[in-house]
Amino acid sequence: MRTVLITGASSGIGEACARVLASESNYRLLLCARRVNRLEKLRDRILDSYPDCEIFCFELDVREREQVEMALNNLPADWNSIDILINNAGLSQGLESLENGDTGDWDRMIDTNVKGLLYVTKYCIPKMVNSGMPHIINLGSIAGKEVYPKGNVYCATKHAVDALTQAMRIDLLEKGIKVTSIDPGMVETEFSEVRFKGDKERAQDVYKGLTPLCGQDIAEIIAFVLSRPAHVNINDLLVMPTAQA
Ligand code: NDP
Repeated sequence: MRTVLITGASSGIGEACARVLASESNYRLLLCARRVNRLEKLRDRILDSYPDCEIFCFELDVREREQVEMALNNLPADWNSIDILINNAGLSQGLESLENGDTGDWDRMIDTNVKGLLYVTKYCIPKMVNSGMPHIINLGSIAGKEVYPKGNVYCATKHAVDALTQAMRIDLLEKGIKVTSIDPGMVETEFSEVRFKGDKERAQDVYKGLTPLCGQDIAEIIAFVLSRPAHVNINDLLVMPTAQA
């Protein structure tokens, strides 16, 4: 059995990862996010289909360093060893030129996508060292490979994730921890609605003219990456909707 910690498991890609990994019989799930009620509903749905799946949910705001440290250092004893970390929690807020950008949005993106990922990783690594095949998966983005108009700060955070993934791979080589970046193009989740602050019409407009990916598409790829033998690491995967330029 491999224990996997998924951040941002309350919706979208994180939730799909929980469902897909639960459907394979060799994973135990540690699920966290701020909306713990959503995690509990997800746990109940998974248990309806896979009653033997072990799941532990807890509330976590990845931006809060002390909360992250406390939560990871106070996991129940039988959840204290972690094999896989999926650093998925993240968001984009606002799509504005720099002069019109909301500095609160910038803080939320930097604090979640960059600092949150760093905090969770820092406190998770000591729990991974005894694992047979430890693995960290970071959710990057096409926005970490290129930039697009008004994507400024979000693209910068995902470029930072790209750099951190490469740095982690070097730093963690001696510990035998695999590190992979999964970089999706457009995935239809709550991401777009969060970006446009609840404006559903603007959020849906983004997908006009193409079939976006869904969370399950990414989760199945992550399950494949995790299933490779110990000597094989997939360093970086760019996954796009076929029709996205
Ligand atoms: P969703 O909005 O559906 O999910 C985002 C998840 O992150 C939610 O579960 C949310 O949970 C969690 N989250 C946000 N802020 C925090 C926080 N401060 N602390 C803990 N959890 C937090 O979007 P996606 O599933 O699409 O996004 C997942 C990842 O994929 C992100 O890193 C995103 O940047 C990346 N990505 C998404 C793409 C897309 O087109 N959808 C494209 C490329 C990359 P809660 O609110 O309950 O805390």
